[in-house]
Amino acid sequence: MRNEGLGSWPARRARKTPHRTALIHQADAFTYAELHERTTRLAHALRAAGVRRGDRVAYLGRNHPAFLETLFAAGLLGAVFVPLNTRLTAPEIAYQLTDSGSRALLHSPELAAVAAVAAESGGARTVVEVGGAAYEELLAGAATAPIDEPVSPDDLCIIMYTSGTTGRPKGAMLTHGNIVWNAVNVLVDHDLVADETALVSAPLFHTGALNMLTLPVLLKGGACVLVESFDPGGTLDLIERHGVTFMFGVPTMFDQVARHPRWATADLSSLRLLNCGGAPVPTPLIATYQERGLTFLQGYGMTEASPGALFLDAEHAVAKAGSAGVPHFFTDVRVVRPDLAQAEVGETGEVLVRGPHVMSGYWGLPAESEAAFVDGWFRTGDAARVDADGYVTIVDRFKDMIISGGENVYPAEVEDALLAHPDVAECAVIGVPDARWGETARAIVVARAGSTPDPASILASLDGRLARYKIPKSLVLAEALPRTATGKLLKHELRSRYGTGQ
Ligand code: ATP
Ligand code: MG
Repeated sequence: MRNEGLGSWPARRARKTPHRTALIHQADAFTYAELHERTTRLAHALRAAGVRRGDRVAYLGRNHPAFLETLFAAGLLGAVFVPLNTRLTAPEIAYQLTDSGSRALLHSPELAAVAAVAAESGGARTVVEVGGAAYEELLAGAATAPIDEPVSPDDLCIIMYTSGTTGRPKGAMLTHGNIVWNAVNVLVDHDLVADETALVSAPLFHTGALNMLTLPVLLKGGACVLVESFDPGGTLDLIERHGVTFMFGVPTMFDQVARHPRWATADLSSLRLLNCGGAPVPTPLIATYQERGLTFLQGYGMTEASPGALFLDAEHAVAKAGSAGVPHFFTDVRVVRPDLAQAEVGETGEVLVRGPHVMSGYWGLPAESEAAFVDGWFRTGDAARVDADGYVTIVDRFKDMIISGGENVYPAEVEDALLAHPDVAECAVIGVPDARWGETARAIVVARAGSTPDPASILASLDGRLARYKIPKSLVLAEALPRTATGKLLKHELRSRYGTGQ
């Protein structure tokens, strides 16, 4: 059998479009022919270091060509790629190395110290520093002969850890087929053209930037501009310099770009596709972009689904504002009651997802894997409603739901209302114990710079906009909110920090 997995993409692209640019990083640019050669050389080097099919190869580093070279090289060998979150501490990385049983760890130079400690206690036998002169020497000294390891679409491709928003990250087992089906969904539903230029500024070690943006664009033969760390002004510069057509990000990233002083004058005319996902898109943000003639594609998904499940196209962005849209082409989505019966139109239920891009289970967690599925459907733990046209609105996670006086309060709705207040830059809503109501909502607010926020008047601004039981009973001002690497609110940290007392 031949290589039918991701590892074969650079060779297939090099056969079709050898001279087109694949990756851009700072002053470097690699064509597909170069990506193919570098990937083959790296695969030989990894094989020489003892990496065999089925072995796990971990990668610790920010967005850089070596990230994709390692992914494709592992794929050539039938090995499994394990991207690690650069924000983790050495013991947390060591846990993921041990948990995944990674034999090799590739890391960028600035993370050498943490990688050394983690590799030592995590049991990785081969440690390779990428991105510097030693890495270029390693590639230059390696063979270029084709690698003929057979790989099938059902073979494991990536162990991708979930964001860890609700607890310890779990390793979703994604096959080559899972990732290809997701990429097909993106190509079909987002109308990618052959010469897309993607700006990859969200971290590649999370599913969104890798699977909704970078891999579909590389499959189609476009260019990816890799940015090591997101910066709003730098984003505007890169859009202009490279004629970026396609961006993906979470709402906080798009928000920061729109607040940059250069926003009003920057040339954004090349932008065609803005995909905002991973969290609900606040209504004021949609309006800010519309003023520049830009609409969002919105998406809802999860690491376990590789990740796209629902999408809202730009055509319906206004008519169906607030909704995450309809299922992707090859995806089925149901919203169900606790007894798994279909929820009525407008009734809140749990989102279930099924499709060829949904994971087979969590690495090393048989009980969690079994609990994650019901009748072949993945249980997302997310609350949603469906309208009469089949458009799904994500309400919030059930885990974050507050029950106040017997009424369900979904923090996301309250947060959206709070963000409309001019003094509120960021906010989070959590439940706090209450003798009378069981729980009540509490807002934690980061005030906009230069404002003099008054908690009572911010809360009063919600009167008439939200039902009484949804309005927080207390508001705490904070300097910053704890977030994951992609900008999601870490509600469990907020609950332990602000969840008790007055
Ligand atoms: P963990 O599973 O480790 O707690 P996580 O669920 O945040 O972390 P991801 O797989 O990155 O990890 O995120 C998927 C979740 O993000 C979804 O289950 C959902 O709760 C939330 N989400 C994704 N897209 C949207 C969206 N468009 N609107 C609202 N919530 C979203
Ligand atoms: Mg999750």
